[in-house]
Parts: sequence; C-alpha cells; structure tokens
Amino acid sequence: MKSVDEPRLREIVGEKNIKTDPSDLYIYGSDSSVHHAIPWVIVRPDNTLQIQKIMEYANQDKIPVIARGGGSGMCGQTVPVQGGIIMDMKGMNRILEINMPDVYCRVEPGVVDDDLNLALKPHGVFFPPTPASSRIATIGGEIANNASGVRSVKYGATRDAVLGMKVVLPSGELVTLGACTRVEASGYQMHKLMVGSEGTLGIVVEATLSFVPIPEFRCMGVANFDSLAHAGEAIGAIMSSGAIPSMLELVDSVAIKAVNKTMNLGLKEVAASLIFEADGMVKEAVDYEIQKMKKICEKHKGADIWASYDPKERAKIFMGRKKLFPALSKYDDSLASTSLADDMAVPYSKMAEMAGKIHEVAAKNNIIMTAYGHCGSGCMHTKILMDTKRKDQWQSARKAITEIYEYVRSVNGTTSAEHGIGLSKAESFKAEKSDSLNLLKTIKKALDPNNILNPGKLMQAPDDWVTSSDLRYSVNS
Ligand SMILES: Cc1cc2nc3c(=O)[nH]c(=O)nc-3n(C[C@H](O)[C@H](O)[C@H](O)COP(=O)(O)OP(=O)(O)OC[C@H]3O[C@@H](n4cnc5c(N)ncnc54)[C@H](O)[C@@H]3O)c2cc1C
Repeated sequence: MKSVDEPRLREIVGEKNIKTDPSDLYIYGSDSSVHHAIPWVIVRPDNTLQIQKIMEYANQDKIPVIARGGGSGMCGQTVPVQGGIIMDMKGMNRILEINMPDVYCRVEPGVVDDDLNLALKPHGVFFPPTPASSRIATIGGEIANNASGVRSVKYGATRDAVLGMKVVLPSGELVTLGACTRVEASGYQMHKLMVGSEGTLGIVVEATLSFVPIPEFRCMGVANFDSLAHAGEAIGAIMSSGAIPSMLELVDSVAIKAVNKTMNLGLKEVAASLIFEADGMVKEAVDYEIQKMKKICEKHKGADIWASYDPKERAKIFMGRKKLFPALSKYDDSLASTSLADDMAVPYSKMAEMAGKIHEVAAKNNIIMTAYGHCGSGCMHTKILMDTKRKDQWQSARKAITEIYEYVRSVNGTTSAEHGIGLSKAESFKAEKSDSLNLLKTIKKALDPNNILNPGKLMQAPDDWVTSSDLRYSVNS
C-alpha cells in the first residue's frame, strides 16, 4: 500500500480537518451501498484553494481522491476501492448568493439539499430535483449522481437545474464551466458533462443552480389497481395525454405489504397503487390536471380513487411511499434490505411489464424484491431483501440482477435512472454503453490522465463485484 504524506495534508487543511483514526477510516469506508473498503486518510477542506493544493499533491504522487458529500450514494460511488484520500466536502457548505432578479443561486458543494430549500423558502422559491435523501444529500453529490426525485417528472433532474459550476481538475487547476444564464450555446457544455460523472472527472467546488416558484396549490390523489398491467396502462395513458403531473409514483403489492406489516398503515393490499399530484398557481388548472388523471385511472380499472388539497390528507396518501425505505429494512429481522439493481428507467409502455419481471425473477431466485418508483419519469426502483450472511443468497441476487438488467436493455431502458452506477451497476452500464465505452474512457483519460479521481468506478469497475472482497457484510463461505 502506498503511503500518504500526512504532514503535508495537515499543513493544507489544518490539524482538525484530517482524520486517520481506524474507526473513522472504517466509517468513511462505506456509503449507503453494499460495498466497503478502507481509505488511507480523510480530509475536510473548507475552501477551494485547499482543494487545489490537495489535488496538486495527489496528482503528483498518484494518490486516489474520492470526493464525498453525505455518503448516501447507493451504488458504492464513494467507496475507496483503491484506497487513497476521502475528501469530505461537507466543510464547504455556504450558500453564496440567492439572486432573485436573475433567478439563480450559487452554493458550495457541501450544502445539504434541505438546507438550500430552507434558505430559498422565504423567497417563495424551491430547488426541485430533491431526492428522498434530501436531509443528508449534498448538492455536490446530487450533481455527481444526477439525482432526481418525486417531482422530477414535472421539474426535471439535477442536470436540468445546473446552469454552471466551478471545478478543480485533477491537476489542481480551477475552471469555470457553464454560465449564470438560462441558455448557453458557447461551445461544449462541460458543466453538463460533470453532472453524473460520479466524482471521476473533477471536484465541484461551486454550483450555480436555477430554482422555481413554490406553487400556491397542490393536490394529491391515489388509485388502487388489482393488476400491475392496468396500473402500467394508466401510467402510459397519463403521460401521453398531455397531463402535467407534478408527481406520479407506483408502489407494488410487496411494498404495500411491507409498510402494512411494519407500520400498521392499514393500506388496501392490492396489486399496485398509483399516487398522482398536480400543482400550480391557479386552482382551476390544478383541478383540471387532477380530474384528467382521475378519469384516466378510472378508465384503466383504477379503484378507491380520491384526491385532496388538504396537507394532512396528502401526507396520509403519501405515507405508504414515504415510509417504504424504513419499512423494507424492518420487514424481517433475518433479512437486510440491500440496494442492488436499485434503480433503472424503462419506456412508459414497459413499466408494468418491468414490475412483473422483477416479481418473476425474485420468485425464481428465492429472494424478495419490490417494485416502486417515480413512474412518471419512467424510473423503477427495487430493493432486494436477503440474508446477507449466506453466500448462496448473494449468488441468487447476482443472477436476479443480471436477468433484470438484461430485460431493461432489451426494452431500450437504461441501467440507472437517478442513483448512478458506482460499483454495483457497472456490469450492466458497460453492456449498455458498449459502443461508446472507448469514448468514455478517452474523456476520462483526457481530464484525469493519472486516473486519481475515484478510480475503479463506472467503466473501470469490475463486473463481478459479488465475488470481490469489497462487501460491507461478512458472508459465510
Ligand atoms: C434513503 C435514501 C433515499 C434516496 N433517495 C434518492 C432519490 O429519491 N433520488 C436520487 O436521485 N437518489 C436518492 N438516493 C441516493 C443518493 O442520496 C443521491 O444520489 C444523492 O444525490 C447523493 O448525495 P450525497 O451528498 O450523499 O453524495 P455521496 O454519496 O457522498 O457521493 C455521491 C457521488 O458524488 C461524488 N461527489 C460528492 N461531492 C462531490 C463534489 N463536490 N465534486 C465531485 N464529486 C462529488 C462522490 O464522489 C460520489 O461519486 C437515496 C439514498 C438514500 C440512502
């Protein structure tokens, strides 16, 4: 193992911003994925100059550097598979400017999503990509993963809200990409390239983001379906009808059972439920959208359909979806809820078939899998509930994931909708991008010739991570 020049790093970031204690190194070795590996050192810079100096040093000594925000990534993006420096970006958490006349804000990358929205609220605006992890996810992590959320069906993903950014390149050079304007046609859109790059091309040290007005009216509805196929038809029909949902979510029977079992929510145990929402400044316009979606659900055999503007009623409707994550973790004491094949996107017409495929593959491989997600964006999520101590369960999970992703690619879907690739999804990512892999590698080489930024991820990650030693669980042989 290479050693790092700790005194030099201490000099750059100061004594209190460096950690080498084994317990700290252990904790920073995992994120919200199944992976784990131990870094050599953790540094917490609090300004751009420090980051430039760290990168200059790391580049010269060819030391891996992994930027880390909230560590909520689900695919091992921040796991230091080749060791190196974890650069904790949470020390850079200042909101630099909220510019109302020009409709943008400038923030440091360690700003937590909820904190940004709290600061924007008094101005009557919000930053919409907001993932479900918004209490911990940072803007830097959201940019690097191109995160999105329940309202992305109307307002777009992080990519759509990023106007520009400042980035420190592996050499330590600071560059300004994009602009502060809504449109830009001045050559390569390099800031967009950084979105979704998972910390492999540069360290984002400042972001210029757009925001939108907080709507005056929000109405949420729900419809139950006794077959996944009917729910799927309703999704396609809503999205092709010209309706503009601000949310369109699918939860399947396994997900409903899980929240009922662990949270006693008393939801009707149907094959699938759709949760839909419309928002806007004019109530009649919101009414119009809601009526349209209700009618479509009715036409496709939706039942128990109701909708409400009341915040308490809305919270009740959304509760099942909101509590799904913790519910799955508590589903069975002997099973862990793992983020494997955790998200993908497929064309609308394939949403129901996709959910059915997940159930079929789970049954065949003797594991429990759910299907839920932001179906208005074509995004499907899954979780695999399994006994992580059993090697055969990992092998079954691997088989299941391979089958699921083969299906996703066969219907022109994509490997990740919003959680990114990291380590867990590299195999399918490489298969999906087979004819552009060389181009991706050329871009990486041009920007990071010494391969120091988050090495071993995306196209560099191994296919068979199950047999690699980088799991956070101890697996019996
Ligand atoms: C309970 C839960 C719910 C979730 N729900 C959603 C959801 O609804 N939608 C969604 O999209 N995701 C979701 N996620 C996944 C994850 O939270 C998001 O992708 C989030 O954007 C990651 O942000 P983070 O700050 O935690 O990033 P991290 O996990 O710390 O890092 C993610 C990636 O960003 C890179 N990175 C971080 N900061 C920088 C920087 N300054 N410069 C360059 N690279 C950087 C890292 O190297 C890494 O590759 C969820 C996760 C959990 C645990």
